[in-house]
Amino acid sequence: MLPVVYIVVPCYNEKEVLPETSKRLAEKAESLISEGRAESVRIMFVNDGSKDNTWEIICSLHEENSEIFTGLCLSRNRGHQNALLAGITEAAKHADAIISMDADLQDDINAVDEMLDKYNNEGCEVVYGVRNARKTDTFFKRSTARGFYRFMKLMGADIVYDHADYRLLSKRAAQALLEFSEVNLFLRGVVTLVGFKSDKVYYDRGERFAGESKYPLKKMIAFAIDGITSFSVKPLKMITGVGFIMAFIALIFLVKAIVDHYTGNADAGWPSIMCSVWFIGGVQTVCIGIIGEYIGKIYGESKHRPRFIIDKYLG
Ligand code: UDP
Ligand code: MG
Repeated sequence: MLPVVYIVVPCYNEKEVLPETSKRLAEKAESLISEGRAESVRIMFVNDGSKDNTWEIICSLHEENSEIFTGLCLSRNRGHQNALLAGITEAAKHADAIISMDADLQDDINAVDEMLDKYNNEGCEVVYGVRNARKTDTFFKRSTARGFYRFMKLMGADIVYDHADYRLLSKRAAQALLEFSEVNLFLRGVVTLVGFKSDKVYYDRGERFAGESKYPLKKMIAFAIDGITSFSVKPLKMITGVGFIMAFIALIFLVKAIVDHYTGNADAGWPSIMCSVWFIGGVQTVCIGIIGEYIGKIYGESKHRPRFIIDKYLG
């Protein structure tokens, strides 16, 4: 049986791109059906509290063709991740497969074909869209983005390299995702936790064809911090390490003080003060680290994440 496909597109101040995006997506929807990849396709635009007439455009698209276009309007701007989540939540009620993508079509929509092939023929439940290269991004955007992925990994948030939020989720995977009931949901990280059979599809990322990026550096940094703090307790664990390093420095001063004492180069008072300052500092930092370990545990508990997700059951 062919799947009912929903394409979820979060939109924030996208009046410049929506007319073209909707046209291209409608064509794509038709070809997916005619080529036998989908039973039906619906495109769900999620208006994330736009200040321009994005929602009016979505409404008129729905009026023109309610078979294909549908819309969801958030009460105010809640950010890309929440808009996406709202769309996935709604789409999971109706769709067999949900594809999320940005409104500016920087992500090549033809990759959808391969995503659906992997879903239909190989039984993949999560298909990640991964960028081939970042030829069209500016050097600045490219290096900050690369830094972002490296830093995230270092901080213990395991995310798929060069994969943004362009992906296919099966109904089951989407429902499993929604079981992660934490308020600060970092989708890119959580999707990898969901599991199930998954694969990657590679595509070239183009340039935004109109309008400007809604992710300036400020928002990217906020996003990275949000991702780390809502995903990893590594920063808390690092405190203990820093404390031990400080205590070790105290030890070095102690050795130096002893050596100086026997070689007759000792300054009165100075070595003992340095030793105490670093040692007390180290002990205090280790203590904070221990508290951090407990806070990390509480933090984990408070997320109420599912402890397991069942894939298959025989019997
Ligand atoms: N977006 C959103 N809410 C926001 C910011 C962005 O829904 O607060 C949407 C935006 O409309 C677009 C997607 O998120 O569909 C990605 O944004 P953008 O293309 O500006 O980011 P970039 O590609 O520059 O990283
Ligand atoms: Mg973009």
